Amino acid sequence: MAGLWQAYSMEVASRSTLISVLLPYPFDQPFTYLAEAALAPGTLVRVPLGPRVVVGVVWGTAPDASVRAKPVTEVLALAPLPATLLAFIDWVAGYTLAKRGDVLALALKENLLHQPAKSRKKCNFGDADPAHAGPQLSPAQASAAASLRTGVATKGFAVTLLDGVTGSGKTEVYLEAVAEALRMGRQALVLLPEIALSVPFLQRFTERFGVPPAVWHSQLTPAARRETWHAVAQGRAGVVVGARSALFLPFGQLGLVVVDEEHESGFKQEEGVIYHARDMAVVRARLSACPCVLVSATPSLESVENAANGRYARLDLPARHGGAVLPTVTAVDLRVHPPERGRFLSPMLLSALRETLARGEQAMLFLNRRGYAPLTLCRHCGHRISCPHCTAWLVEHRSHLRLICHHCDYGTPMPPRCPACEADHSFVPIGPGVERIAEEVAEAFPEARALVMASDVISGPKQAAAAAAMILARQVDIIIGTQMVAKGWHFPHLTLVGVVDADLGLAGGDLRAGEHTVQMLHQVAGRAGRAQAPGLVLLQSFAPEHPVIAALLSGDLQAFLVQEAAQRRPGHWPPYGRLAALIVSAKEERLADQMARALARSAPHGPGVTVLGPAPAPLALLRGRFRRRLLLKAARGVAVQGLVRDWLAGCEIPRNVRVEVDIDPVSFM
Ligand code: ADP
Ligand code: ZN
Repeated sequence: MAGLWQAYSMEVASRSTLISVLLPYPFDQPFTYLAEAALAPGTLVRVPLGPRVVVGVVWGTAPDASVRAKPVTEVLALAPLPATLLAFIDWVAGYTLAKRGDVLALALKENLLHQPAKSRKKCNFGDADPAHAGPQLSPAQASAAASLRTGVATKGFAVTLLDGVTGSGKTEVYLEAVAEALRMGRQALVLLPEIALSVPFLQRFTERFGVPPAVWHSQLTPAARRETWHAVAQGRAGVVVGARSALFLPFGQLGLVVVDEEHESGFKQEEGVIYHARDMAVVRARLSACPCVLVSATPSLESVENAANGRYARLDLPARHGGAVLPTVTAVDLRVHPPERGRFLSPMLLSALRETLARGEQAMLFLNRRGYAPLTLCRHCGHRISCPHCTAWLVEHRSHLRLICHHCDYGTPMPPRCPACEADHSFVPIGPGVERIAEEVAEAFPEARALVMASDVISGPKQAAAAAAMILARQVDIIIGTQMVAKGWHFPHLTLVGVVDADLGLAGGDLRAGEHTVQMLHQVAGRAGRAQAPGLVLLQSFAPEHPVIAALLSGDLQAFLVQEAAQRRPGHWPPYGRLAALIVSAKEERLADQMARALARSAPHGPGVTVLGPAPAPLALLRGRFRRRLLLKAARGVAVQGLVRDWLAGCEIPRNVRVEVDIDPVSFM
């Protein structure tokens, strides 16, 4: 009887098979379609969806046979997506609680599938040459490189934290691991937090391998995007250097994943599918059975903790390459040495600048704030110009003659009179942005050639490369920059770094404010004195006794992390506990409040679980939506996803209210 049934079902299957197809749209579950034959998971198909025909991916075979399925429109003649990528999509969706279709959309978009035009010549994707001569490594570098190479050759999953001071040659070391992957005929992925960073990196890569790598980031043209995607799918692209979304490329032969500047919060995707690319890189490597290398001079407490408890291996490069010494870091107490009225550079910083320029060396002034002034105030009535759509002041950008919202990009010219008291020309700028510092520099050093580096002036890799070339050719004396200049760059003639406002990142009470400030300022400091001439770093601060400034002065980042750990451990704050944030938003404040309160009423409870809130988000209004936050805090062993899933399932969310889930939140805005 069983045999007969089997024969019957096989006959049906041979005529038509029910398959499940996941679509790159906001659906969590695959849909069932009818195919002429069984199709392997990962096969790309076109299927009807309502009145449209859309691309999708065969997800599996055992769907619900009771549904009336429509036939597949077309089976595409392309290689199926690799099984490791399908598993990764499932994993990311399960972890972040995003809809699976939304995660698939990170890997697959309709416009990727049009075949590259015939006339285009293929780029040098496969040609990175591992045998191209690299530098002679120092003994410490060579031993770290050997360890990473062995990991790649062993073809197994393992995570290594490569921790080395700025300028120690971490990049050279992990490029040896990339070379090993290429030698083994496998692919390597290097994740960078920002495209601007890729400028110095791409030069280094090209020197090491003879050709630039394939790159993947949001500013690629659609044609370049398509070509790169297909080159990765076909294995022609040996190395991809990319931003976080490169994790979702169809690598079939992944042999290594590197996350450079692993501590960077830029790896956290904050919209749509909310995920941390550093953490997901580890998962991608595990599913691909290959090593993952996390690289930083200022590793996150998360990674340091994982190394300490043996989950990650750890390699250290304690000294700068070529005998260069780490810069001297000094605080300038602004209470004792204030700048002149209406100015922002203290006499000590000005005289250090003067001496640096006199020696023919370069200086960098760091202020992580774009524009001219962060606040514009009516001197008559005290009115502050704020964004109509966000809880934020408008930032004056004098170079564009506009006031701009840094959250929603709303812009308006400077109003001729105050909208509140109607006084004429009564607005004054309060506080500095980089443009204002540039103005002060131009007045103090009229002969010096200054260059502002911020994302609104240097908007892409081309401009960044041009700026770097000018600096290296010594056509620039003073660089004035935001976080864009903090890391990755190697300017041998740069010996002075002045941090205009070292206290800036400490306001706000964010869980990781101290850690992130130490990391960023340590990176900035690391730009100074990378060659023979020694470097000096001056930190302007109103609170030099603050533990963050103290850590930067002593350079003892380990000790700082020990203090951080001691503060977070007792309250089970990450990494000693887990967080999940719910962000409720609606166009009507009342609706946001109602939903937030309803969620609070049905909040999960139990041993080791606390729910904080609801509270208005610090950005209580963003792009015209009112926002409320709830925060679930749980002990490490608690499966947060299940709790949140049940919590949301028990609450009806009206159509005009949005509830976003942020697992392991980094931003608390
Ligand atoms: P990190 O990534 O640790 O900040 P880099 O890899 O950028 O350090 O190295 C700093 C500088 O020293 C770079 O210009 C790099 O090319 C150079 N460098 C590092 N190691 C070597 C080496 N073994 N031989 C020659 N140059 C090196
Ligand atoms: Zn705004």
